Amino acid sequence: MADPDAIVIGAGPNGLSAAIVLARARRKVVVYEARAEIGGGCASESLTLPGFVHDVCSAVHPMAVASPFFRSLPLRDFGLEWVEPSAMVAHPFDDRPAAIIERSLGDTAGALGEDEGRYLDLIGSVVHAWPRIGDDILGPPRLPRHPFALARFGMRALQSAERLARARLKGPRARGLFAGLAAHSMVPLDTAPTGAIALVLGAAAHVCGWPFPRGGSQQLSNALAAYLRSLGGEIVTKAPVSNIDELPRAPIVLCDLSPRPLLRIAGHAFPDNYRRALERYRYGMGVFKVDWAMAAPIPWRDPSVARAGTVHLGGTLEDIAESERLAWEGHVSSRPFVLLSQPTLFDPSRAPEGRHTVWAYCHVPHASGADMLTAIEQQVERFAPGFRDRILAGHVMAPFDLERRNPNLVGGDIAMGVTDLRQMAIRPTRRWYRTPRKGLYICSASTPPGVGVHGMCGYFAAQAALADSRQ
Ligand SMILES: Cc1cc2nc3c(=O)[nH]c(=O)nc-3n(C[C@H](O)[C@H](O)[C@H](O)COP(=O)(O)OP(=O)(O)OC[C@H]3O[C@@H](n4cnc5c(N)ncnc54)[C@H](O)[C@@H]3O)c2cc1C
Repeated sequence: MADPDAIVIGAGPNGLSAAIVLARARRKVVVYEARAEIGGGCASESLTLPGFVHDVCSAVHPMAVASPFFRSLPLRDFGLEWVEPSAMVAHPFDDRPAAIIERSLGDTAGALGEDEGRYLDLIGSVVHAWPRIGDDILGPPRLPRHPFALARFGMRALQSAERLARARLKGPRARGLFAGLAAHSMVPLDTAPTGAIALVLGAAAHVCGWPFPRGGSQQLSNALAAYLRSLGGEIVTKAPVSNIDELPRAPIVLCDLSPRPLLRIAGHAFPDNYRRALERYRYGMGVFKVDWAMAAPIPWRDPSVARAGTVHLGGTLEDIAESERLAWEGHVSSRPFVLLSQPTLFDPSRAPEGRHTVWAYCHVPHASGADMLTAIEQQVERFAPGFRDRILAGHVMAPFDLERRNPNLVGGDIAMGVTDLRQMAIRPTRRWYRTPRKGLYICSASTPPGVGVHGMCGYFAAQAALADSRQ
C-alpha cells in the first residue's frame, strides 16, 4: 500500500481490531504480521495429526461475545459462527458430583444445593448489573456511566477470590467452582483482583456464554481480517518489523506488542523515563500447554462433565489456591490446576469423524523449563480413568515455545503482564495506549482492559490515535 495513513504491527485480535477502527474512519491501513498466518493468540493449526484442528492459544471466548466492539462488527457475514456447548463450565470433584455452570443462572444455583441463594447473590448480582457495568469492565479505568452500580460491584470485586469464597459461599462445590474461575487471573487467589476475575467470568457465562468459533479460533481472526479487507485494509504476512525506523512513513503506528518486544523495535525512540517505565513492567507466571488428538471423548467419571465446553480440574478451593501459589512462587505443583477444553463434543468439524481434540494447560513459574505433561495427564486421569488409553497423539508447548512463537508472551506469560491491581490500572504505563513518540501507540493486551480475545485494547488505542490526529 502506497502512503498509508496508519500502520499496525501485529495481526493479533487487538491489532486487527485497531486496524478495523482506523479503516472505518476512512484511514488507509496496512497491518504487518511476523508470522505466515494471522491471528496471534487467536489461531488454529493441525498440531498433532492430519485432519485434527487445534487452537494454538485461545480456545474459549466469553470476552469476545461480551465485547461491545466485536458485537458492533458484522462478523457473521464474514464467516464467524459461534458454537455454544450445552453447559459452560464443569468442575469435577473426587468424592461428590461435579459443579456445573449452565447458561441459566437459576439452574446453576439450583444444583449447588446449600449454596443456591449464595450463588444467586454473589454471581447473580453481577449478572443483573451487567447491562450497566459491562462496558466499564471491558474498558480502561474511567468515569463510569453508572457509578453506583460499579461501586457496588467494586466492593466485592476488589477482594481476593479466597476471601470472597470463604465469606460468601459455604460448600466445597461452590467454593471450588469459584476458585477455578478466579485461577484464570494467573495471580495467587489471596490477592485482591482475583475476586473480580471470578465474578466477571462467572457472570459472563450467564450473560453471554462461553462459546467457541465453529472450526476453531482461527475463524474469528479470519472473520476480523476479511472484514478489515472489505474496508480497504491490507494485511502483509511474513513481515516481522525489527525497527520502527524501517517502516514506511505513516502518521499513525500502532504496536500489537507487549513492552519487551516493543522496546526491542522502538526503545531507541523513547526518552529514558518512558523506556525505564516499560522496563519495569512485570510479566507473570507462564503456561505449559498440551493438545491431544483423541480416539474417543474423555471418559469422565461424572458423565455431566461431558456437557461442558470448558472443564476446570483441581478440586477444592484449597487445592487450587495451593497450585496457583506454588507456580507464582517459582515451584511446580504435582497436582496442578488444569484448564481444559473439549470443543469437538460440540463442533465435530475440527476432527475426523468420531475422533476428538482436547486443549489443556496449567500455570507454571515464569520461564519455567519444567515438563508438566505427566502431571497434567494425571490430573485428567484423576477425574477420567482410562483417559490416557484414548490418546492418539499429543503436542506440548512450554513457556519458551510460546515465547518463541510469539515474542509478546515473555516467559510464557499468556496475559502479557501480571494482572494485579497495580498493573490493571497502570498498563503498561500511566499513558496506557500513548507513548512519548508522536503517532506511536500500543494496542496489545498489555494495555487496558488486558488479557483476552475481545479487541477492546485495539479499539481504545485506535480511538486515542484518531483523537490525537484530529487535534
Ligand atoms: C495458550 C494460550 C491460551 C489462551 N486462552 C485464551 C482463551 O481461551 N480465551 C481468551 O479470551 N484468551 C485466551 N488467551 C489470551 C489471548 O490469546 C490474548 O489475550 C490475545 O491474543 C491478545 O491479543 P493481542 O492482539 O493483544 O496480541 P497477540 O495475540 O499476541 O498478537 C500479536 C501479534 O503480533 C505479531 N508480532 C509480534 N511481534 C511482531 C513484530 N515485530 N512484527 C510483526 N508482527 C509481530 C505476533 O506474531 C502476533 O500475531 C490465551 C493465550 C494463550 C497464549
